Amino acid sequence: MDRYAVLGNPVKHSRSPRIHQLFAQQLGIDMEYRSIHVELGSFTDTVRHFFLAGGRGVNITVPFKQEAFQLAEVHSQRALRAEAVNTLLLGKNNLYYGDNTDGVGLLRDLKRLSFPLQGRRILLLGAGGAARGVLAPLLEAGPAEVTVVNRDAGRAALLAHAFSDLGKVRSAAYGDLSGSYPVIINATSASLSGELPPLPEHILTQGGYAYDMMYGAQPTIFMHWALQAGAAEVHDGLGMLVEQAAEAFFLWRHQRPDTAPVLAQLRAELVV
Ligand code: NDP
Repeated sequence: MDRYAVLGNPVKHSRSPRIHQLFAQQLGIDMEYRSIHVELGSFTDTVRHFFLAGGRGVNITVPFKQEAFQLAEVHSQRALRAEAVNTLLLGKNNLYYGDNTDGVGLLRDLKRLSFPLQGRRILLLGAGGAARGVLAPLLEAGPAEVTVVNRDAGRAALLAHAFSDLGKVRSAAYGDLSGSYPVIINATSASLSGELPPLPEHILTQGGYAYDMMYGAQPTIFMHWALQAGAAEVHDGLGMLVEQAAEAFFLWRHQRPDTAPVLAQLRAELVV
């Protein structure tokens, strides 16, 4: 049986095994996908062992995406841009091929949700791994501009500079934000600890769109904030999670699962 896994620390709560199980069921494939808790310092050994034992592919989550990037011998363009790898497989000549499906996952979900991106000003909160992974496809969607804002404004400036060849991207500190944005995407981990980024009042255009990459059984604190700020559409990152998984599945098996029923199933299971 073909074997796959998600590697992380912590990884116990990962929804990836369930998502890939649903993909496999849908396509009538007999495969195994499990989660592996990896101790810090043993990521490379774990990956090598998994593939030597016949494993077909792995997903990588916090905090190993940069290590996976180092381990990969061949990179996709999007992994090179993101400087992070969330999907590994053995490619040509048995070389480790690393890709990053987070960005395409977000963009597919935003498309499903009919978020208007083209010609709009987009505010991207955060400058960590998730923000880096989505910036290239966001810029390719043709916004008027993307503003990257971060607590550590220096990190935002570095990120904006690194992607400036792809479109109009600038950085800001929260205190410097002005005007309003019709689209705000939260790529910080603030919601994880029930915190809100320090956003000024009226930063979201009335009737605007808000997206939190975090997800859970209940709307996140950021989603509550956006609704109170007058958003017309507010969504969490569960759809992004399913879409990035579908892209990884496609890389491994060259088959594209239908994500809509899987997302609906996952949502129902989260709420229970
Ligand atoms: P990182 O640790 O790399 O980055 C965290 C970012 O959050 C930094 O920019 C940090 O700012 C910022 N931050 C943390 N706390 C606060 C706060 N209280 N106020 C303002 N900013 C804050 O994390 P990742 O980029 O890997 O992940 C970010 C989020 O995206 C997580 O919640 C993760 O679960 C989610 N995610 C979701 C995915 C999905 O498929 N739905 C995929 C990938 C990620 P600073 O630099 O100033 O410290």
